[in-house]
Formats: sequence, C-alpha cells, structure tokens
Amino acid sequence: MNGQVIENFSAPTAPIHVLDDALVNKIAAGEVVERPASVVKELLENAVDAGATRLSITIENGGKTLIRVTDDGSGISPEDLPLAFARHATSKISSVEDLFSIQTMGFRGEALASIAGISHASIITRRSQDQQGWRINAHESVLEPAVPTSAPVGTTVEVRDLFYCVPARRKFLRSDATEFGHIQEMVLRIALAYPHIALMLSHNDRKVLDLPAASDHQVRIVEAFGGEFKNQLIPISYTDPNIQVRGFVGLPETARATTRFQYLFLNGRYIRDRSIFHALKEAYRGLIEPAAQPVGVLFLVMAPVAFDVNVHPQKTEVRFRDPNLAYRAVLAAIREQFLQRDLTPHVRLSAGGASGTDDVKTQAAQTRQIIADFFRQPQADSSKIDFPAATAGSSGSAPSSMVSQPYRAESHLQSKAFTPVPLPSVLSQQIPVQGELEPLPNHFMQFHDSYLVVQESDGILIIDQHALHERIIYEDLLARVRQGPLEAQRLLLPVVVSVAAGQLAIFERVKPLLVNLGIDVDVFDSGSVAVQSLPTLLARLNPTQFIRELLDKLLETSGRITDEELLHEVLDMAACKAAIKAGDPLTPDEIQALLRRREEVERSSNCPHGRPTTVRMSLRDLERQFKRR
Ligand code: ADP
Ligand code: MG
Repeated sequence: MNGQVIENFSAPTAPIHVLDDALVNKIAAGEVVERPASVVKELLENAVDAGATRLSITIENGGKTLIRVTDDGSGISPEDLPLAFARHATSKISSVEDLFSIQTMGFRGEALASIAGISHASIITRRSQDQQGWRINAHESVLEPAVPTSAPVGTTVEVRDLFYCVPARRKFLRSDATEFGHIQEMVLRIALAYPHIALMLSHNDRKVLDLPAASDHQVRIVEAFGGEFKNQLIPISYTDPNIQVRGFVGLPETARATTRFQYLFLNGRYIRDRSIFHALKEAYRGLIEPAAQPVGVLFLVMAPVAFDVNVHPQKTEVRFRDPNLAYRAVLAAIREQFLQRDLTPHVRLSAGGASGTDDVKTQAAQTRQIIADFFRQPQADSSKIDFPAATAGSSGSAPSSMVSQPYRAESHLQSKAFTPVPLPSVLSQQIPVQGELEPLPNHFMQFHDSYLVVQESDGILIIDQHALHERIIYEDLLARVRQGPLEAQRLLLPVVVSVAAGQLAIFERVKPLLVNLGIDVDVFDSGSVAVQSLPTLLARLNPTQFIRELLDKLLETSGRITDEELLHEVLDMAACKAAIKAGDPLTPDEIQALLRRREEVERSSNCPHGRPTTVRMSLRDLERQFKRR
C-alpha cells in the first residue's frame, strides 16, 4: 500500500491539466457535503436567505435516497435558474468588500453546484411576479434545459441518490437512523434561530417535527426542546457598542448530563465556540454540580467585521478579532440575571396524588444519599474537626428538636435529645445589614438534625442545613478575601505536614494566595511544610488535613489551575469543613441566624458544589397534591 503511494508520487501518469467541472464539483462536494445532513443545511440556509416563512423537509432513508426542501421564499427567475447550479454562482455577494459584511447564510455559490455534482438534483421554482414556474434537472453536474411547469410561489430543491457516483463516500455513511439524527439536528438549529419560520420535517412518510411559526424564541425553544422547559428559562440580555447578547438559559435545576441543550448563534448562524460555551458553564459555577451542563440558547450579534466566518468550510467555526469580547459579554449577561433572582428550585410534584408523594420521597431519599455520599468522602471526617460533636445519627427516631418546634416562646423547651451547640463563628459574627429585611418567619423546625423546614407566606422551604451553611461561609470568605488579606491567627506550635516531593513546587506557586487567606505555610524541609497560622474565621480547621487535601487537589490539576479557580477550590474546601454538618442539632437561635443569613448571601439557593440548599413547595403544589384543586 505504502509502496503504491510513493510510486504514484514519483511517477505521475499524466501531464498537468485542468480538471473538468464535474470533477471539480465532486472534489468541492467533499468539503461542503460530508453527509446528507450537510445537504439539508445548505438547502435550509438558501431558503432562509430567500425569505421563507414556511419550510417543509421530506427525507427518505436517512437522506440517502431523497432530500426535498420546499420553501415559500422569493423563488428564482427563469434566467438565473441555470446559474443556480453553476460553480461560484451566487446572488449574495459581488465584491471582496461584501465578503466582510456578510448578512446572508450562504455566499460562496458552491453548495448547489457541489450537491448537483454528486446526485440527481432538481429545482422547481416560481417568483410571485411570474405566471408559471420552472424546473431544471441536473445529473452529476450535467444540466438539462429548464422547462416550464406549474408550481406555487417559492422553491423546491430535490436531491436524490446522494453520493451514488462517489462509492468511496457512500461507504462512510452510517445507518439511516444515524444520518436522520444528524438531519434532525440541522433542522433544529434553523428552528431555534428562526422561530418565525414554520417547519415541518418528515422521514419515510412519518411526520417527525411540526413546528408552527412562533411569536418569539422562548416559545420556539420550549416547543423544540420539550414541555419540561416551560417556565424554566430565564431571558438574558446584554448590550455594549461591540456586541449584543440575547437568549435564554435554563434554571440551574434544568442542567443536564450533556451539552445537548447548548446552542450558540452568531448573527443568525449556528456556530460552535469553546470559549463562549465555557462562559456559559462558568456562569453556573456553584449553582450546578461540576459535571452538569447548563441549558442555554444564546444569540450573539456582532458587526460582520468583528469576526471571520471563512475559516471553516461548513462555517460552524469563526475567528473573532477580540476573542474575549463574547466570553465577557455572555458571562455578564447570565450573571446579571442570576444575581437578581431567587433560584430556589420548586419540588417537582407529579399530577397524581400518590405518585407525587413518592416523588417527594425519592427526592428526599436522593438528597439524603447525596449527603451520605458527601460525608463518606475523606474530608467529612468530622471527628478530626474541632467542631461540637454531633449527636448520634437520629434517622429513624423522632425528629430530635421536634419538642422545641414550631418555634414559639412557650414551646421552646429543652429536651434531652436537644444538645445546644455553640454558635459557629461565622454565624455569630455581626454582619452589617443593609436596607430593610423581611421579618423572619417564626415557624420553623429542624428534622433529623439535618433539615430545616420553614413556613413562608405561600408555602414551605426545606433547607439542607449543611449545604446552606457551606454557602454562607463560602460567600463570607469570598467577600472578605476580595477586600484584602484575612485576619490570621498564629498557631501556638507550627503544624508540620509531610508532603510528596512533587507537591513542594506547586506549593510555592500557591503560597501568596494562601497568605492572602491568612494561611501562613513555610517549607519546613525537603519533605514537609509547616503551617504557622490559620485565618481566624476558620480556626476550626484541622490544618494537617486541610493542607494535605489542598496539595492533593493541586497535584491532581498539576498546577494548571488559574488563581481564580484555586481560590474557589480553597474556599470550597474551607467552607465544607467549617460548616455545621448533617446530624448537628441546632438551637432556635442558630436556626434564626442561618435563616437570616440565607436572605442576605448571594446564590443561597445552592451550595458551593452546586447542589441545592433549599427546595420550595408552594401551597399550590400542596393543594394540588391533596386534590383540593
Ligand atoms: P450561495 O447560497 O452561497 O449563494 P448556492 O449554491 O447555495 O450558493 O445557491 C446559489 C444561488 O441560488 C443563490 O445565491 C440563490 O440566488 C439561488 N438559490 C438557491 N436556493 C434558493 C432558494 N431556495 N430560493 C431562492 N433562491 C435560491
Ligand atoms: Mg447557499
């Protein structure tokens, strides 16, 4: 095989000659047309460019035998019709300048030529001003003369037997179902970008998609993604002189395991861009679990000169003049919304009474499991942390602080199950309160020494005490760190922690950040470091355990972590260790303090790891559950 190739290179079999059109088209098709879905994409884009408001897409056998796209757009004049299939024939640009101010989806004038080079293709078209329609057929780049025919206004392009004359390509096609899946994805992209266009898609005579023209993007997104996204999307909007960001992102609870529900459009064209998707993910930091993927459909508008679409044959990747502009804008657009909102998820109750209760049960069980898993991790060894010992796990027994609840002065009785806990340092701090605060609810209860149930005006909240406290400490630390170095408390005796050889180098890199956090650590000898001080706020930390874990984390990321990410890591770890645990009984005063802080801190709906701290059940939900409505 190798020998053959070398022989071909060293001994060309023919003199240099210009390739004929049919062959050029086939080669070009290799770039533009990878699979049936690429044809669908080109035909749909042409229809959009022609101003269609209604599109109908008919597919047979995964697009291998038939792709037909019918639009109600402008149509093509009989004179232009033969040119439509010609290479570099386009009505969309005519000068180099145009190339840098593209407003249309297509402009290269090679799609139809390429497609016609590898299939039996035909166009039927009529403009509104023409009495009759015209039809033209092409077979492997050979055009038949156009003939008059009756046709509605608009254009139908039909592509049969794709790749029939390029067996090497045909071999690489996947199953009909897979190819159709790719087609569906292309149709979805157009559907999301152009909600006002009605879309119909059928496969082997089965209607797969039927989207009526929608009044706005949100309606279309819900129709395309599924009803479960109804009322779950947050509109975002950001404008500056260089960029406009619009779109919808899902509430944190809608986050998925995959990036399937992430779409990005630049001036109406679907694109992929790692950096912008990273901004989307970054905006959800601490609101969803690290492995989860947010839902988001983002529309960017930028001046055509600010980016170049001519870097990718299928135009799905672009090059930005300022690569950070879009990143910053998307992050800002989403963050602004999140800061304004209460992101506490509602308990999802199903319509049916009994099964609904099960849902609540399952959810509670899941929450318990998450907490259990969490505490099974090494850092959860609460015995090593200087924090009031928890009473033995109370699950199964009556809620330990039941007697003191609902909290009213007269019912606030001590019971033997009720062990008062000294107020954790962060809770006890006097935090200046700005503005008027809502009066605190006075009906609340701690269950299983782990959950707080709180009455609200229109329902109840169920709070995971550990997760909430974690978030509170995290936000406090973050705010304090941003103001300057944390107040440190020198340890009576330095604590010497042995570390692996490779960790020392990384350690040097993070030392300045640690000092900022009030953690003063020096290299002690070639195999250990000495902790000299800890922040007053985190006096309860076990220094050995904390430093070890931190260094392990750093080694895991082999130091490739940004300062900002490192800061979050450290705060995460610190908050988790310093927070009250599931199993810690709380006094009513402590509960009050927690609830008060809940109102004040940002992102109190989720713990720093992204798990919810709070779920909400409205009276409506309950009434529905008990079939009162
Ligand atoms: P491009 O879209 O890059 O211009 P194409 O090969 O896709 O090149 O199409 C060639 C030309 O055919 C377009 O410029 C347009 O004038 C015309 N055309 C193609 N499809 C349609 C359509 N559905 N409706 C109206 N005109 C069309
Ligand atoms: Mg085109």
